[in-house]
Amino acid sequence: MVTLMNDIQSDQERPKDKLIVATAALCGCFGCHMSLLDIDERILQLVELVEFDRTPLTDIKTVGKCDIGLIEGGVANVDNVEVLREFRNNCDVLVAVGACAVNGGVPTMRNQFEIKECLEEAYIHGIGVENPHVPNDVEIPLLLDKVHPIHEVVRVDYFLPGCPPGADTIWLFLTEVIAGNAVNFPYSLIHYD
Ligand code: SF4
Repeated sequence: MVTLMNDIQSDQERPKDKLIVATAALCGCFGCHMSLLDIDERILQLVELVEFDRTPLTDIKTVGKCDIGLIEGGVANVDNVEVLREFRNNCDVLVAVGACAVNGGVPTMRNQFEIKECLEEAYIHGIGVENPHVPNDVEIPLLLDKVHPIHEVVRVDYFLPGCPPGADTIWLFLTEVIAGNAVNFPYSLIHYD
């Protein structure tokens, strides 16, 4: 964690009172972002400590220079790759939040099938499908052959496992990092049975 704070504090070009945090949801279910919101009223303490850049909370669409980037979800399409690289280029510290970002999680269940099979199941053979056809529009990002955990695409500094990591886990991580302390999770926050 010393490394983390050194990364952050060495950024002398951007003097500021608060750390800047950005978050993104790639191929996930937004459950990890919901877990962040589950810190409840502590969100008021958090906004005293950090300023949010791009997040689904601010609805800012592009990421600027940040101290900490929190990434939810695996990498499933070309848009996910682009967003992830943008975060890596702009964030001093990048954190994989949740099982999908850490190891691909639930979205990797499609990896055992060909893309064609997945598309046909979703758009043609799926229950309740009307007007069955596979959409083909430039606005729809191309799927990758497989879903990847984010560390297979960019360098990742920290991993917060869990599906999702609990609010208390995220809270402890963020507050300790912001305070410049090493993070020592009690067992109650890092067991998943
Ligand atoms: Fe959703 Fe779990 Fe993946 Fe987080 S780790 S995005 S909660 S499925």
